[in-house]
Amino acid sequence: MSAAQETPAGPVLVTGGAGYIGSHTTRLLQARGVPVVVLDNLSTGWRQAVSAPFELADLGDRARLDAVFARHRPRAVIHFAAKTYVGESVEKPALYYRENVFHTWNLLEAMRAAECREIVFSSTCATYGNPLRVPLDEAHPQDPISPYGRTKLHMEHMMQDYARAYGLQIAALRYFNAAGASRAGDLGEVHRPETHLIPLVLQVALGTRAKIQIFGDDYPTPDGTCVRDYIHVEDLADAHLRALARLQAGGSPLAINLGTGKGFSVREVIETARRVTGHPIPAATSPRREGDPPILVSGGTRARDVLGWEPARPDIADIVSDAWRFHRAHPDGYAQS
Ligand code: UDP
Repeated sequence: MSAAQETPAGPVLVTGGAGYIGSHTTRLLQARGVPVVVLDNLSTGWRQAVSAPFELADLGDRARLDAVFARHRPRAVIHFAAKTYVGESVEKPALYYRENVFHTWNLLEAMRAAECREIVFSSTCATYGNPLRVPLDEAHPQDPISPYGRTKLHMEHMMQDYARAYGLQIAALRYFNAAGASRAGDLGEVHRPETHLIPLVLQVALGTRAKIQIFGDDYPTPDGTCVRDYIHVEDLADAHLRALARLQAGGSPLAINLGTGKGFSVREVIETARRVTGHPIPAATSPRREGDPPILVSGGTRARDVLGWEPARPDIADIVSDAWRFHRAHPDGYAQS
């Protein structure tokens, strides 16, 4: 595939561009010379992670959205802004339906009014629910088991209906476990509170956390701990650019898994972090976390066949090394402004 097909035309509006995957994607668009503007309400994102033109705005505010579209006239949207925690979605479904479903509807309506017709958005392997078979290809039935997964599936369905009726060009990218950090060392994963395995393990290595809890070691997996498919955040970013370029070449609609196709257990991740950091990283087993399927690994070849995409950094040691470089340089996360 030529470079032209890997680089979309802009301007691109990135919602949630101050977040983890959004900030890396924004950076890559800038590096490729694509005009970009970030829209974020900074509810979970970080102003320090954005070096592009920035609009502090909430997707619930239609008047602000219309003003942003009028000012920047984006050709396309990459939509990351969303709530992303399974556990929180069980406790607060109203929040998830508002932020993920209603705010996406608001965005689509603003796009329709502005005649902006291309959107690439964050979906998730959580839309598949409990795997009936592993690896999970895109033809696997979508039967999510959490409000989070259900809101993401609603987003997919809403966009499919808009595509049919209004000619919206759509790409749903179903991520497995985003991980790692920018190779430049300045962008990475910062959540408050942190719930994700790799940053938590690295906090233990840094000495800011005493030990890592392994959520269940009695799963039907080789070492009893959950197996996940960790995909480097810079590889995810690259896939977004390719998906948008593919839409612009007439490829809509797209629904594509993004993973490496290789699974690592919780114990393997901890062991890798011990090797990478040289720290013993004490671990203890605690009960299973509700809603965690034993194994989630991406299958199928659609990303390669349709986007010409292959992960450039699939090795778990490289992923953990990049995350470690970021966490060592930013032990307290991004500096507060
Ligand atoms: N996990 C764990 N201890 C932790 C955090 C996560 O054992 O403190 C496990 C979790 O049960 C899952 C895997 O690590 O099997 C990845 O979890 P994470 O929250 O990073 O991502 P998720 O798979 O939920 O998107």
